[in-house]
Amino acid sequence: MNTPTFDINKTDTPCYVTEECYLKRNCEILKSVQDMTGCKILLAQKAFSMYSTYPLISGYLSGTTASGLYEARLGYEYFGNETHVFSPAYTDKEINELVKYAGHFVFNSIRQFALHRDAVKDKHCLIRVNPRFSTQEGHEIYDPCAPGSRLGQTLASFEEDIKRYGKEILDEIDGLHFHTLCEQNSDDLKRTAKEVEVQFGKYLDKMSVINFGGGHHITRDDYDIDTLVEVINHFKNEYGLEVYLEPGEAVALNAGFLVTTVLDVIDGKVNGEDDIAILDASAACHMPDVLEMPYRPVIIQPNGNIAGEKGERAVTVRLGGNTCLAGDVIGDYSFDEPLKPGDRLVLCDMSIYSMVKNNTFNGMALPSIYYNTSLGMREIREFSYEDFRCRL
Ligand SMILES: *Cc1c(COP(=O)(O)O)cnc(C)c1O
Repeated sequence: MNTPTFDINKTDTPCYVTEECYLKRNCEILKSVQDMTGCKILLAQKAFSMYSTYPLISGYLSGTTASGLYEARLGYEYFGNETHVFSPAYTDKEINELVKYAGHFVFNSIRQFALHRDAVKDKHCLIRVNPRFSTQEGHEIYDPCAPGSRLGQTLASFEEDIKRYGKEILDEIDGLHFHTLCEQNSDDLKRTAKEVEVQFGKYLDKMSVINFGGGHHITRDDYDIDTLVEVINHFKNEYGLEVYLEPGEAVALNAGFLVTTVLDVIDGKVNGEDDIAILDASAACHMPDVLEMPYRPVIIQPNGNIAGEKGERAVTVRLGGNTCLAGDVIGDYSFDEPLKPGDRLVLCDMSIYSMVKNNTFNGMALPSIYYNTSLGMREIREFSYEDFRCRL
């Protein structure tokens, strides 16, 4: 487990701290996959767009991918190397600006490509396909293969478009893209890739690129890199394809923390309940995935203790945010001693899907952003009333 290497009593709270040492380790793992296979790995910026770290990451990865215009521009301006973009539907205005930044365009269908083919004539163009082969259970909103999915074309829809536009349109298409995983291991990739091959393999011979999307938890301890390498090599050798992966999470997995202070503790005993601590950080505003995924962050105390499950330690405390939302609860955790106002807590794995998703609901202030490098702790950004006001 990655623990903070900085003094957690010295930052303002709430704040996000990303640690260079952990980011670097992830990048080294990802680079080793590139080196072993010749594949290209891109940072999916929707998970992590802290561009002050791009000078580091760009030394390892091959470029960025974007979910639309602004991310593409950020990648182009601050990361360099290759810029890729996917959008379920592009507007003419977007495409005309995107061509300045992106070299690779992923279209949600042949029809989308046909609508914009003139604008992207000199670009690498891919079609996102959807094998409708679901390998995950539980969170349907994160499953692009769920029934009724709007993300990518099924084989039937793909072939319908080929009929409509003529098979010559395939000559203008460089490759296929699929993104069906979320926090998964390479066994699921292998099964998915097999299915893509069974369905779309006959089109791959004429193409030059395949993109496996994101959702690969490559930097997790139990990730099976050998199987990933095997799948990449299969597509390279069988079809002569250039293989791309575009993980978001895996790049900054466990590379950062959210440091928070306990503001107040409500004695639960009188109600026959557990204590409740109100933090200066909010699940709803500062870590929305805790509610959306949902997931439970690991929490570390300044003395290094890791908070237990409900009932595991002497005192169970419900940790809640400082907003009016009843459901703004991070979870029930247990500690050796009761929490008290002023105590600090560190929430783990808070670099991904946090800064990019936070909001100022309730007029909550946004946490400051710090980057801890070998040169010391650097405050990257502090937010104020203006950041709330200027969006309204
Ligand atoms: C979300 C997404 C990614 C990154 O996914 P992670 O789960 O963060 O690895 C990559 N490509 C596409 C098309 C996505 O939608």
